[in-house]
Amino acid sequence: MYRRIALHGALLGFGYFALSAVVIRFARFDGGVAFVWFANALLLGKLLNAPRRDWPVFLFCCFFGSMAATIWSGLPLASAIPLASLLMLEAVCGTVLLQYFGITGYNLAGLKQVWLFALIVGVVSPALVAIPISVLIQGLTGAAFFDNWLRWTLAHGLGTMTLAPVVSWIFSGEIRRWFAANSPVERWAAMLMLSVMVAITFGVFGQNRWPLLFLPIVPMMVAAFRFEFIGAAGSTLALVLIGGTLTVYGDGPMQLLHAGRGEQILFLQFYIVCCMLIALPVATELQTRRHTFQKLRESEARFRLLAERSIDVVLNIDRGGVIRYVSPSVQDMMGVQADALIGLSVSDLAEAGDGLFVPASIEDVLALGGMPHRTQMRLRNVAGEPFWCEAYSRAVRDEAGHLTGVVSSLRDISQYKEIELTLSSAANTDILTNLPNRRAFDEALDRCVGDARQRSGGYIWLALIDLDNFKQVNDRWGHDAGDHVLRHFADIARGLIRPDDFLARFGGEEFALLLRNVDAAMVRGICDRLRGEIEDSAVHAISGGPIRITMSAGIALVDGRAPTEILRAADQALYRAKRAGRNRLELAA
Ligand code: GH3
Ligand code: MG
Ligand code: MG
Repeated sequence: MYRRIALHGALLGFGYFALSAVVIRFARFDGGVAFVWFANALLLGKLLNAPRRDWPVFLFCCFFGSMAATIWSGLPLASAIPLASLLMLEAVCGTVLLQYFGITGYNLAGLKQVWLFALIVGVVSPALVAIPISVLIQGLTGAAFFDNWLRWTLAHGLGTMTLAPVVSWIFSGEIRRWFAANSPVERWAAMLMLSVMVAITFGVFGQNRWPLLFLPIVPMMVAAFRFEFIGAAGSTLALVLIGGTLTVYGDGPMQLLHAGRGEQILFLQFYIVCCMLIALPVATELQTRRHTFQKLRESEARFRLLAERSIDVVLNIDRGGVIRYVSPSVQDMMGVQADALIGLSVSDLAEAGDGLFVPASIEDVLALGGMPHRTQMRLRNVAGEPFWCEAYSRAVRDEAGHLTGVVSSLRDISQYKEIELTLSSAANTDILTNLPNRRAFDEALDRCVGDARQRSGGYIWLALIDLDNFKQVNDRWGHDAGDHVLRHFADIARGLIRPDDFLARFGGEEFALLLRNVDAAMVRGICDRLRGEIEDSAVHAISGGPIRITMSAGIALVDGRAPTEILRAADQALYRAKRAGRNRLELAA
């Protein structure tokens, strides 16, 4: 481990020395600072991709690389130490700032990162370090402070900006990964593209007649579009190596510039940085989009797998209630192919009168924003048979936050609904007579009072019926015979009332009858007929018989009063009937 880092450090230090020496040899003309500085791109690219605990090794090695280059170039030994220190400071300052803004070794992904990168390594860190450097050089050589400051800032800013991304991609292993991840055809295509770039660059920089600097931009952009950062990196390297070498040797369109070699080199760097700042954002943006698209495809595939394997039906409708997606399990639920439903209105599925999917209910779901909405409804299957279904729904928003539709998960609950209906009817039915029980009666009376208050329909009447001297039936014939009589009464009464009327066992030997759309005389008529039939019929008990019974009833109008008031009125009338000798009817006052 340590040996590996030491070896990397040694190689890096040597690289730093070599790059510095070459640059000093070819791009330093007047005793001031060099017109190009690539060595820090090498160091910065390494630091960005190395853990901080390894930094001292690399800085130490590059420090010596820098000292060696300075001494080799003939500058006084005394200047080598501060110069090397400041160069290291520049690399550290740039790396720390980049990392502070979240830019790591390889993720120059997105426009923001590219511009931040350019600002930090291209402007801020070289401009800061250029101040003490220029003071130092002024002291050593007497060169003007501002000239040196500007030249250092330009040379270091441009040099680092040009090469640091490429170096960083190499050190982060991104380029190796790209080659490993792509097919040989793709690799050859990239090579071919690079060859075209190289050929064009040679063509442009191998002559000094025409200012053809716009030409390399074409293959560079194609490479960036087609091969993203690999294309941008390869093209940049081609420009730096070929353009730089030919310019240093006095060839290329820079010669058309009436300026010294140093300025020509600066101008070349400026040109390369501009090319890169066009190609790099394109490459990174494309890469980001490709990753996003890939993630989207993966999540879409995951969703599809879930939706299509799900037993529940997943349904997606737009704001207008038109079905946009329905999962294949709809075939099991409704006997119809999913494709056949796309584009239909969802209200076509709903049983008339029920259902979430009438437009008003879609609005209900949308009104909840993103909260889940749960409802039960009846849908019709392909044979037209209704079945019960439970829908969990949620509103869907687009990226801008606008509500675009509803997604629902539907489950067939017919079985549960059947059980529920059985349970609820059991809870409302009297087991002896099979009539609605007291609980069901209370609800029915409440409904009648509600209707009476709204004055919808005609009069509604309540008759409270009590069997006369029933205790004696039990006492004489036994409890079973008593039960038999109660069932007998229920059968007769059931046969007499109309479908709209409501008969319930109120409790014990008391029954309650609700009659709709009748006047007082008709109520009396119906009740009197019942009374007559009971009086005339006889029950044959197992233990003997016949058993003869009579009934009394108290009748009250169901009006806007509270149900308890109405019940009390009917009860008082019943009491009066009993007092008056039984087997008779009384109307509440
Ligand atoms: P009245 O004419 O004043 O109404 O006299 P009654 O004997 O009918 O009056 P009471 O309310 O004192 O008696 C009702 C009896 O009905 C008492 C109870 O034993 C009997 N009973 C109540 N529920 C049942 C039942 O489910 N089965 C049987 N067999 N008897 C019941
Ligand atoms: Mg009673
Ligand atoms: Mg009684």
